Amino acid sequence: MTHNGAPSSHLSTLNSAAAEATGVLTIDLAALRSNYAAMATRAAPAECAAVVKADAYGLGLEPVATALHKAGCQIFFVATLTEARQVRAALRDATVYVLDGLLPDTEPLFAAERLRPVLNSLPEIADWSAYCAGQGKTLKAALHIDSGMNRLGLSANDVAILARDPAPLSSFDISLIMSHLACADAPDHPKNRRQLELFETLRNLLPKASASLANSAGIFLGPDYHFDLVRPGIALYGGEAVLDRPNPMNPVVRLEGRIAQIRDVQSGETVGYGAGHHLSRDTRLATVPVGYADGFIRLLGASDDHPGLTAYIGDYPAPLLGRVSMDLITIDVTDIPSEHTFRGTLVELIGSHNTVDDIAGRAQTIGYEVLTSLGRRYHRVYKGA
Ligand SMILES: *Cc1c(COP(=O)(O)O)cnc(C)c1O
Repeated sequence: MTHNGAPSSHLSTLNSAAAEATGVLTIDLAALRSNYAAMATRAAPAECAAVVKADAYGLGLEPVATALHKAGCQIFFVATLTEARQVRAALRDATVYVLDGLLPDTEPLFAAERLRPVLNSLPEIADWSAYCAGQGKTLKAALHIDSGMNRLGLSANDVAILARDPAPLSSFDISLIMSHLACADAPDHPKNRRQLELFETLRNLLPKASASLANSAGIFLGPDYHFDLVRPGIALYGGEAVLDRPNPMNPVVRLEGRIAQIRDVQSGETVGYGAGHHLSRDTRLATVPVGYADGFIRLLGASDDHPGLTAYIGDYPAPLLGRVSMDLITIDVTDIPSEHTFRGTLVELIGSHNTVDDIAGRAQTIGYEVLTSLGRRYHRVYKGA
C-alpha cells in the first residue's frame, strides 16, 4: 500500500521488473469483468460484444480480451487486421470483426484466421464477394451503414444501389448489419433518434441479418437502440460514456509514479522549463519520472497563472508545480509528513482521487485519449485475473 509511505512497501510485493519501473500501471481485470457484466445485463436480451481496438484502449489487448472472454464475451471488434490477429492468437473460438474494413488484397488474410471484415463501401463488398465466389466459400462479413456520422460506411445511396441489385451480396454471409451513433454521449441530441430511424429504414432494404447500433453511450439510450448486439468500449474500461451524468462504471486503471528525488527550494525560485512557475513559499519538491512521453499530457502541468493537477500520496494532496517534461514532473510535498515521502514512494496520478475523466477534463480532452495515450514505459500489473 502507498498509504503508510514506507519505502518500497508496495513494490516489495512486485517482482524485480517492478523495481526498476518509474511508473506502475495497475489494470483491474475484476473491475473490467464486472463492467462487462453490467453492460451485458443492461443490454439483454441483446448480446454484448466488446470493442478492444487500439490495444484495448491502451490497457493491453491480450489480457483484456482474455478476461472479457472469461466473463462471457464471444464477439470482439478491433480497428485493424493486425489487432484482429492478436485477438485470434489469444482466443481461438471468438468472433472478431475488423472495423476499418477490407484493404485491397487482404481477403486471404481474413479468411486464413476466420476474421470478419466490416464492409464499409461498395468496392469492399465487390472484393469480398469476388473472393468468396472464387474460393467457393460463403464467408461471413458485416455491412456498415453510415446513418449520419459521414465518416465510414455505406451511404443511403449505396444501400439503395444494393437494394436494386443485391447480386454482390449473394456470395457471402452477412452476419451483421451495423451503424454508429455520432451523439450518443448527449442523450437529448435529436440526431440520435434520426440515426435510429435511418438505420431502421436502410437495414430493411437489405437481406435480413443481425443488427447493431449502440456503443457504450448508445446502450444507455435504452432498448430501442440495442437491436441484436451492442458494442461497448469505453464503459468497459471505466470511462464516462454519457456526459454530465454520474459515471456508474467501476474504475479499471490506476497509475502511480515513483519519487526519484526530493529537494528543498526557496521561495521566489522557479520550477522546470520556461521558469514560468515561481514558488510563493519555501517548498519541498519531489520529482517523479513520468512525463508527456508517457502520455501524461502537458496541460496537466502548472505555471504562475494555471494551477496543475493535484497528485496524491495516500490521501495527502501533492499539486504539480511547473511544466510537465518529457520524462519528469515535479510535485509539492511541503505539507506531507516526511515519513510519507521517500525516494521510491509511489505517487498516485490516476486512481481514486483523479479518475481518467478528471484527468481528461483538466487536459481538455476525453477519457478515450487519456487511456489510449498511456505510456509503454510503465510496469503493468494485471490484478484480479
Ligand atoms: C470505438 C467504437 C465503438 C465503441 O465506442 P465506445 O464509445 O468506446 O463505447 C463502437 N462501435 C464503433 C464502430 C467504434 O468505432
